[in-house]
Amino acid sequence: MRSGTMPVIELIPAREAKPKPPADRLGFGRHFTDHMFVMDYEEGRGWHSPRIVPYQPIALDPSAMVLHYAQTVFEGLKAFRSADGRIRLFRPEMNIKRLNRSCVRLSIPPVDEQLALEAIRKLVETDSGWVPGEAGTSLYIRPFIIATEPHVGVAPSSTYLFLIIMSPVGAYYAEGLKPVSIMVETRDVRAVPGGVGDAKTGGNYAASLRAQQEAKKYGSSQVLWLDGVHRRYVEEVGSMNVFFKVDGTVVTPELGGSILDGITRNSVLRLLQQWGVKAEERRISIDEIEEAHRDGRLEEAFGTGTAAVISPIGELVLGGRKLAVNGGEIGPLASKLYETLTGIQYGRIEDPFGWMM
Ligand code: PMP
Repeated sequence: MRSGTMPVIELIPAREAKPKPPADRLGFGRHFTDHMFVMDYEEGRGWHSPRIVPYQPIALDPSAMVLHYAQTVFEGLKAFRSADGRIRLFRPEMNIKRLNRSCVRLSIPPVDEQLALEAIRKLVETDSGWVPGEAGTSLYIRPFIIATEPHVGVAPSSTYLFLIIMSPVGAYYAEGLKPVSIMVETRDVRAVPGGVGDAKTGGNYAASLRAQQEAKKYGSSQVLWLDGVHRRYVEEVGSMNVFFKVDGTVVTPELGGSILDGITRNSVLRLLQQWGVKAEERRISIDEIEEAHRDGRLEEAFGTGTAAVISPIGELVLGGRKLAVNGGEIGPLASKLYETLTGIQYGRIEDPFGWMM
């Protein structure tokens, strides 16, 4: 977007550094770094006053529009520390572009892409001591925008806050890559055509909680969503996109507006193409998966997302029945993708696509 005229990001340093939690007790999204990025928006003036300030609570009027009508968008990406101590981000420009696509859907004014990238870079640099170095750990970065106008009325807000907070996170698979159980959800739907399924906005996640709780009863960690019209076609899994390997061909649901355009999904498709593995983006029904399972043609299933990178699916729970995928074991493709993507992220292997910044 605009370049050359980028405003300076002011830095107001924290007086004291907070104690850092031990690497084996990080968990996910529970601890936050010393600083955060803030920028304001007012109608007529646009986005202004970008700054890095000590991490602190924000004051909101109880009538702030985000609290009532959920006009908000967010992103999630990670910074990784490699063995040589360097800190790098995985495809951050993709997250900023997606943030702005979500903004358009939610009637939120988009942010300057270069400024947002610089904000992330400078915040990570400011809190670089918070990027853990132990195996599998990383710094999770959460940019988000909220509607702040004090007005109980359904309309786009005239004021917004753009914030970036960061959280050191532990190894997702502390004991190595592990297959998960996924419940196919047949009552609730996550998204419908024309809705907000392809935007990263809070409401999508609030609406997913009930099914997620139900899944826990079956010992499943996440839900596999079906489409909102036919209730047949596979969409995505919890906070991941989903892939199946059937008869040697990798299949993932096509992007049609109701699923999130995942950056890990995109990266997996690029790798498969490079490896010469046949991959298709198309509609795939749950009946087709069940049939493939019955005939022994369902070779692998896995989810893809920033948090877990690759999450092998060892079991699908469908109408109370449990279908084991690949005998409940991790498939060779999921394993190779995991090793390759994490290898690129932690600088263990060459980055053939120039993904790391
Ligand atoms: N689908 C949903 C609903 C998600 O929240 C996420 C996580 N951002 C994904 C898919 C995976 O996207 P990404 O690979 O960009 O993390």
